[in-house]
Amino acid sequence: MVLYWNLRRSKPGLSPSSPHPEIKDQWHDGRIPQRSNLRRLKVYTRPLARLIEQLQHLPGIGPKSAQRLALHILKRPEMEVQALAQALLDAKKQVGVCSECFHLSAEPVCEICRAPNRDSHIVCVVADSKDVIAIEKTREYPGLYHVLGGLISPMDGIGPEQLHISPLIKRVSQKKIQEVILAISPSIEGDTTTLYIGQLLKPFTKVTRIAFGLPMGGDLEYADEVTLARALEGRRELD
Ligand SMILES: [Zn+2]
Repeated sequence: MVLYWNLRRSKPGLSPSSPHPEIKDQWHDGRIPQRSNLRRLKVYTRPLARLIEQLQHLPGIGPKSAQRLALHILKRPEMEVQALAQALLDAKKQVGVCSECFHLSAEPVCEICRAPNRDSHIVCVVADSKDVIAIEKTREYPGLYHVLGGLISPMDGIGPEQLHISPLIKRVSQKKIQEVILAISPSIEGDTTTLYIGQLLKPFTKVTRIAFGLPMGGDLEYADEVTLARALEGRRELD
């Protein structure tokens, strides 16, 4: 009924009362509208509509991608779809956070914290687990991590107490940490968080912040002033 009223209001040519009340989406002369204002999901059978709706909740997935993924899933063998559904449930049930560094882990203490070859005197502080994954992919960093779980953002009601800052201070003050590297992206929230943690940690250890500069292949001419200023600030002597 809602659908019918919407159509009538947006198209003045529609009859106020349909000659066939059971057929809701038609013009007064019985024609079906060419360019339908029907809600998108009405064109899908119900279970397919539900799948598309759920997929649309995923980040970066719009209506078209959700439809493409859903239709692809329907074409796959049932065993494959079962495995996908099981993997989703298992990951959700089994993956928690490491009690030491708060990185995602299926064990109480994560693989990085347990690895005997990591340098336990250096801790790299990041906002999110995806930053740990990004740094690990460089294969350049030998130390441990500490995941904050977000950034200080008073506008969004996120204060230091909502983040894993207290455990970080405790960890650094109690263990022999020689350096804490703050690897937090430059932004208002990032800079606030960096400044706040830096002040708290300075009494216990050396605190550094990663340098920010130009991307590989980037052109000086096209870099914005803040990026260029940061790149100059983070300069270092040639080896
Ligand atoms: Zn860990």
